[in-house]
Amino acid sequence: MARAEDTEVIDLFEEFYRNYYRNEIGELAQKYPNEQKSLYVDWQELYRFDPDLAQDFRNHPAQFQDYAEEALRLYDLPVDVKLGQAHVRVENLPESTDIREIRADHRGKLISVQGIVRKATDVRPKVTTAAFECQRCGTLTRIPQTAGDFQEPHECQGCERQGPFRINYDQSEFVDAQKLRVQESPEGLRGGETPQSIDVNIEDDITGEVTAGDHVRVSGELNLDQQGSQQEKSPMFDVYMDGSSVTIEDEQFEDMDITTEDKKEIVALSEEDDIYEQMVDSIAPSIYGYRQAKLAMILQLFSGVTKHLPDESRIRGDLHMLLIGDPGTGKSQMLQYIREIAPRSVYTSGKGSSSAGLTAAAVRDDFGDGQQWTLEAGALVLADQGIAAVDELDKMRPEDRSAMHEALEQQSISVSKAGINATLKSRCSLLGAANPKYGRFDQYESIAEQIDLEPALISRFDLIFTVTDKPDEEEDRNLAEHILTTNYAGELNTHRTETSASDYTEEEVARVTDEVAPEIEAELLRKYVAYAKRNVFPTMTEEAKTEIREFYVDLRSRGTDEDAPVPVTARKLEALVRLAEASARIRLSDTVEVDDARRVIEIVQRTLEDIGMDPETGELDADVIETGTSKTQRDRIKNLKTLIGDIEDEYDEGAPVERVLERAEEAGMERSKAEHEIDKLKQQGEVYEPRNDHLRTT
Ligand code: ADP
Ligand code: MG
Repeated sequence: MARAEDTEVIDLFEEFYRNYYRNEIGELAQKYPNEQKSLYVDWQELYRFDPDLAQDFRNHPAQFQDYAEEALRLYDLPVDVKLGQAHVRVENLPESTDIREIRADHRGKLISVQGIVRKATDVRPKVTTAAFECQRCGTLTRIPQTAGDFQEPHECQGCERQGPFRINYDQSEFVDAQKLRVQESPEGLRGGETPQSIDVNIEDDITGEVTAGDHVRVSGELNLDQQGSQQEKSPMFDVYMDGSSVTIEDEQFEDMDITTEDKKEIVALSEEDDIYEQMVDSIAPSIYGYRQAKLAMILQLFSGVTKHLPDESRIRGDLHMLLIGDPGTGKSQMLQYIREIAPRSVYTSGKGSSSAGLTAAAVRDDFGDGQQWTLEAGALVLADQGIAAVDELDKMRPEDRSAMHEALEQQSISVSKAGINATLKSRCSLLGAANPKYGRFDQYESIAEQIDLEPALISRFDLIFTVTDKPDEEEDRNLAEHILTTNYAGELNTHRTETSASDYTEEEVARVTDEVAPEIEAELLRKYVAYAKRNVFPTMTEEAKTEIREFYVDLRSRGTDEDAPVPVTARKLEALVRLAEASARIRLSDTVEVDDARRVIEIVQRTLEDIGMDPETGELDADVIETGTSKTQRDRIKNLKTLIGDIEDEYDEGAPVERVLERAEEAGMERSKAEHEIDKLKQQGEVYEPRNDHLRTT
């Protein structure tokens, strides 16, 4: 009976192929097996052909895949080939299952999940049938290797002795195998949820096609794997998928529904005169002040336009921003708020939350079988096309430091290790926060020197905001007022919800709450940003170009004087363009106007004054940002070295440090500064200590 049923189903598949897949099978026959090994079947087409058959396939994918493949082997081909090992891969289920919604009911069924590849092992051969050659009599014993541990023969099929055996590779069968870990995409998550993931095993022709960081849709059978060890088995099971198809999702895919209502609301908002203030009031309203930094964060959310040039090169539109400040100034709070409103955002600390850290890593861990190398995507890859909010950026691991330069400018991360050569996309904006090197800012040192990040990296940030925590009576009073109001609003709210007979009226609560509520609700703001990024690609007006050009030339001209430091480099010019585009996007404007240019010039000017200023002369100095050393300081270091050179000639054992410091003081250099610069010279290998407290130049 079962047999008759089998043939019936196989016949049904043959009929389906004849009606729907004649051409595809013809093509497969041409290309099989070198260029193509699988027939891809659209589940929805199967459903149209026979709903029952399609449902059966979903409920018993392993069995029905066998039928489908058998039907393919029996199919009358136009050319004389055999599709012996061809696969049928069913894809395009009408809906996908959320990874966090996978339940026991799904076991053994065909499901489809969407997400981002967090880890991918390299592709390795896996034995499917092992041929054991008896070392005593030479007989081959073939053992099929199904899921689980490696199976060895109990005895030789020829001489019935227990081996010893040797695996005969020529007579064994292998298949390429790879394991992926697919994690929920950031955009599908409500702010703050920890993403969940599922492991997927794939084989043969679909291996090696995707890499860490790719957004994918995987169809396959959900299976269970018992937890615990061989000795102590647990009643709990893990779920995993045997993937039958993996497709890379459209890169622009965004899982956000913007209704016509939403659109109306967004357009109306964009036309309001005080939209920029409203925006600023919508970012971390519980944090007082920092209006300019908040405006910059808004610009970062909207980002500039990514430009594709005729020569195929690309200029990034994403803005990178760094907040550096004394501890306890609200940086972490602001970063966390961004995660609430940025579509596709990732929040992490500089140390990273996985072995991949901020960028990416090739690791050998217990993912895979312990021998395979795994490529794992870090925060900047997972935030591809979104914002990576990285707190305590100064604490990042040394491996990340070097990969970071490429990540920020080229927006890709290359990994080349242990045979893994991959380039991962990281087209994200970085919002970093860091503390000053010595805990708090020292106002007599240039700020750039107090940032524990290398200058080449610092220069890749479009904007750097510094937050110093200096007591100031008026500001402190405002801040206190704000924090007290915020807390009071929270108290009232809690009081009303927790106690049944509250004396406070709803109006009173509403009044206080209103003061600290975001102007534009997070939900709407998120849609606003997504809408603008998808639909608005502004171009510069002549007036805006002129404004920016003049500002830049003016800044540079301060550097034409022989002795003056060069104030800014061309990097800042690109930053200005990006910022101005973002400013236009907020108004949903197709053109960048003069006002946009002015708005961002003001911000850039402010941040340059904060960080690019030589604290000794009060002048802007690009070198402070680009190299971490101001011109005044460079001159001083040069002079010191000359001085050491002079003094060492007078002494056999090198220039005594004390003598150098005395002479430096006579020349008008502060002792503490001179000490600091000598340390620098030593670090740079410009001078060394032949013996204690003596210096020699190299
Ligand atoms: P940081 O990361 O800069 O060290 P946090 O974000 O952890 O600082 O802030 C420490 C605490 O101080 C938080 O509870 C925050 O709400 C409060 N705080 C600091 N600055 C402000 C401010 N300007 N307005 C409101 N609250 C602030
Ligand atoms: Mg912090």
